[in-house]
Amino acid sequence: MASRVIEVDPFDLIVFGATGDLAHRKLLPALYHRDCDGQLPDEARIIACARRDLEPGKYREWAEESVREHVGDLDETVFKRFLERIDYLAVDAGADKGWQDLAGVLAERPDVVRAFYLAVSPDFFGPICERIGAHDLVTDTTRVVIEKPIGKDGASAKKLNDTVGEVFREDQIFRIDHYLGKETVQNLMALRFANALFEPLWNSAHIDHVQITVAESLGVEGRAGYYDTAGALRDMVQNHLLQLLCLVAMEPPESMDADSVRDEKLKVLKALMPLDPETVEKRTVRGQYRAGASAGGAVSGYLEELGRTDSVTETFVAIKSEIANWRWSGVPFYLRTGKRLAARVSEIVVQFRPIPHSIFDGEAGSINANRLVIRLQPNEGVRMQIMIKDPGPGGMRLREVPLDMSFAEAFKVRNPDAYERLIMDVIRGNQTLFMRRDEVDAAWAWVDPILECWAQAKDAPKGYTSGTWGPSASIALIERDGRTWFEDMI
Ligand code: NAP
Repeated sequence: MASRVIEVDPFDLIVFGATGDLAHRKLLPALYHRDCDGQLPDEARIIACARRDLEPGKYREWAEESVREHVGDLDETVFKRFLERIDYLAVDAGADKGWQDLAGVLAERPDVVRAFYLAVSPDFFGPICERIGAHDLVTDTTRVVIEKPIGKDGASAKKLNDTVGEVFREDQIFRIDHYLGKETVQNLMALRFANALFEPLWNSAHIDHVQITVAESLGVEGRAGYYDTAGALRDMVQNHLLQLLCLVAMEPPESMDADSVRDEKLKVLKALMPLDPETVEKRTVRGQYRAGASAGGAVSGYLEELGRTDSVTETFVAIKSEIANWRWSGVPFYLRTGKRLAARVSEIVVQFRPIPHSIFDGEAGSINANRLVIRLQPNEGVRMQIMIKDPGPGGMRLREVPLDMSFAEAFKVRNPDAYERLIMDVIRGNQTLFMRRDEVDAAWAWVDPILECWAQAKDAPKGYTSGTWGPSASIALIERDGRTWFEDMI
C-alpha cells in the first residue's frame, strides 16, 4: 500500500552543522527519501553550512557517501537530482565569516519558504539567531528548527527561548523532539481518538498504571563529554519521556490543530504532581552503568569511558510520577530510561485493571488484566494482550494472547524515519508535532526540583551492571506498589 504524498512549497533549507553527525546520519537521508517519494518540488534547495572551508563539490561527495551508507539501495536518478539540490557555504556561527555569502544566496529567492535548521551545539543557537536577525534574513515564511537540548534547566531554557524569540515569532520556531515524529507516536493519537473503543476506558477507573520505557543498549560511546554535563533526566526525561506521557494522558484536543494539541499537552505537564526532597528520594532512582556485557561482548563502565572517577551523572533514571487531575488521580506513570540496558526498546505499556469478578473456576487458570503495548522501537507496532479460551475440547482453559499489529508487516511499506515527517512539517509550517515554548517551560518546572534535590543529595547514583535493566532500586520502586516492569515482550 502506498502512502499519499503531497508536494510541499518550494523552499531553501539552510542546515547549520551540515558536516555533523545529525546531518549525515539523519537529515540528508531523510531529505533523500522525501525526494524519492516525490515530495520535494524542483525548486527545493538545500544550503549546507558549517565552519570549515569546503568546495561544494567536496561536500556533495561527503553527502553522497553518507546517504549511500545510511540508506542502502538508492534510486540513482533521484539521487543525482538530490545531490544537485545541495550547495555548501562556509559560515561561522560565532563570527562574521560567510554571512554575507549566505545573505546573497538567500536573496536570490526571497519568496520561497526559508527554513534554518540548527544542527549545531546549543551554544550556537543564540549567536546564529542573532546573526540571522542582524542580516535581515527573516521573511514572513521563514522558520527556525532547534534541536534538543533546549537549556540545562528552566532558567537557561528561558534565556535561550528569549534570544530566539527576539528574532523569530513563536509560530516560526520549531523545537524538534524526534520522538513525536515516530509513526507509532502519531498512531497513539489515532488509536485514542479515531476509535470509540479506548477512550471510555482511558481513565483511573479502568487503567491501573502506565509504564514508559526508553531503553538503550549502547553506552555514551563518543559523547561522554557532552553527556556528563546532561545526564538521563535532562537528555531523555525532560523532553522525550514527558512528551510521550503527555500524549498518553492528555484530554482529547478540539482538533489536530497545533495549538489545540499543545494546549492539552501543556495541561498535563502543569498537572504533574511536583516532587519535593522527600518524594524525590522515594519516587526517583538514579543509576550509573558499571562494566558488564552487551551483545558485542565485555564493555567498560561509564566512569572508565569518561576517564574520571568523580562523576555523579546518571545514565539511568526511573521515576514514579502522578498526574493530579480527575482523569488520572491515583494512576502512577512509571518512567524509565537508561543506557547500556538489556535491550534497545522504547515502549508505552498501558496496564488495565483486572476484571471485577471471575465466572471461571480454578481449572481455567489465572486471568491477566489487559495490557496495551505501544512499541516505538524497534519494530514499531501496537499490541493488545487479551484473554482467550485455549483451543480444543479440553474444557475451559484461559490463555493470554497478543492481538498484534506490527506496522512493517501490516503495511508492507518502508517505515519512514521521524525526521522525514518532521522536516516536511517544518516546510509546511505545521507545528503540531513540535514543542511550544510554554511546554518546555512547564517540563523544566517539573524537572528542576528533581535536579536540585539530586545536586544536594549525599549519595551517588546507584551502580548497575551493563546489560541489565538498571539498578535494583528501580525494581523496588515499582514492586513496592505491587507491580512489576514489563520486560516479557522485549
Ligand atoms: P556534531 O557532529 O558535533 O556536529 C557539529 C556541527 O557544528 C559541525 O557541522 C560543525 O562544523 C558545526 N560547527 C561547529 N562550530 C561551528 C561554528 N563556529 N560555526 C558553524 N558551524 C560550526 O554535532 P551533532 O551530533 O550533529 O549534533 C548537532 C545538534 O543536534 C546538537 O545540538 C545535538 O545536541 C543535536 N542532536 C544530535 C543528535 C544526533 O543524533 N547526533 C540527536 C539529537 C539532537 P565543522 O565540522 O565545520 O566544524
